Amino acid sequence: MVAFKRCALALALGAVFATPALAQQHSAKNVILMITDGAGIETFRAASYYRHAVLGQEVYDDFDTQVFAATYPLTTATEPTMSDEGKVEFDPAELWSDEAAEGVGFEGKLGDYDSYFAGYNYARENFTDSAAAGTALATGQKTYNSAINWSNNDERMKHIGEYVVESGRALGVVSSVQLSHATPAAFLGHSPSRNEYAALGEEIIDSGLATVVFGAGHPYFDDAGNAVDNPDEDAFRYVGGEATWQRVLDGDTDYQLIESRDDFEALANGELTLDGDKVLGVAQNHATLQFNRPGVEAGNLIENVPSLPTLTRGALEVLKQNDEGFFLMVEGGAVDWAAHANNLPRLVEEQVDFNEAVEAAVEWVEANSDWDETMVIVTTDHGNGLLQGPDSDQNAYSPIVSQGAGALPLVRWHSDNHTRELVPLYAQGAGAEYFLDVAQRDEGLSTYGVDENAQQWVDNTDVFRAAMSALGIDEDSDTP
Ligand SMILES: [Zn+2]
Repeated sequence: MVAFKRCALALALGAVFATPALAQQHSAKNVILMITDGAGIETFRAASYYRHAVLGQEVYDDFDTQVFAATYPLTTATEPTMSDEGKVEFDPAELWSDEAAEGVGFEGKLGDYDSYFAGYNYARENFTDSAAAGTALATGQKTYNSAINWSNNDERMKHIGEYVVESGRALGVVSSVQLSHATPAAFLGHSPSRNEYAALGEEIIDSGLATVVFGAGHPYFDDAGNAVDNPDEDAFRYVGGEATWQRVLDGDTDYQLIESRDDFEALANGELTLDGDKVLGVAQNHATLQFNRPGVEAGNLIENVPSLPTLTRGALEVLKQNDEGFFLMVEGGAVDWAAHANNLPRLVEEQVDFNEAVEAAVEWVEANSDWDETMVIVTTDHGNGLLQGPDSDQNAYSPIVSQGAGALPLVRWHSDNHTRELVPLYAQGAGAEYFLDVAQRDEGLSTYGVDENAQQWVDNTDVFRAAMSALGIDEDSDTP
């Protein structure tokens, strides 16, 4: 069946694009953007060591485009400043400074973290939050921290989800955390403040913009996945408030609701037929798929929630039905939460779940599409925790140390909050070369032990432009 489909596709493309030269000019049909929230390079490496004992074995290690991305916000103010005052500057040379620094380098919630090096201090200052970072990825514009597609001039901004739907494609947004949390909301809604969960949830559901919205935030379940009989109004905030949720249940929105693990898995396996063409999936957990369950160790997963790869496969099953193509954003949202907690076992658990979701996406491309019509981007919205090796108090940016497959690597945390590190960005497929065209070289990236080809960086706003360029969509000239 799969072979037949690929053959049919090849014939169809051959008929439309008579020559290779023309074929190269056609726009990508699909873009899949995969964001592990709050992951520096050593977060990626921690999962890789845990799974494979060595680096280089993850599916994105074979991607043609491997660069880094800057993530700093326009300003660390949390409301519009209507000016350039307090604008964040970024110079990667400052990151690499191994000049000794004394005293406390970062005052975290978990405690104080020593300075050690000037570069660490630079990395721990003036960092983005997930809202400004999500907005940069989704609109191509930097803004203030807390803004969801909202400018520093207090204006609503048009995001890529709106552009792709206007182009006739379908939009899908999948997250392992609440569907109205900052990163998913940045591909679905607008708000001057990320904390307006109920308003964002209402916009996400009532706009009907996306064909697929999957996340957590279920009002009738707690953080451990246990049913709650009489939730208060606050429990409904992630799904747009109680009235919005009731409209979903009554069938008065564009969406069919699914929530059980069985239904998510049936959808992923192509065994669930939807009544309509749009699906809202709210996993049976209030916070996130797994991370907020009791305890701090890995394992003993909650039974009634699906995995991120299952959500990814389910979303692709629905989105592929749009003949014009789609844009799908998949977020591993709790990697960030594990880093805030300096919880290595669950950081690795969450990043492994994310990596398996990337594998699901790549398998989908190779079975149902091809790299000439689909681009996959794998990145993060910012670093978190400044995770480094055990010797990183002595040697700046000393890497983490593998203890073999199935064992946690040796690490040292230098923060419990976000950073403005340069973070990994991998891309493969139609239009991925955009990143190489706009990248700046920085030999300082050799500090990360990456080869010369990867010693270059783009800005997080380039993700928007790369996706738009790949899809052949022009930005509206009146967009701020
Ligand atoms: Zn984030």
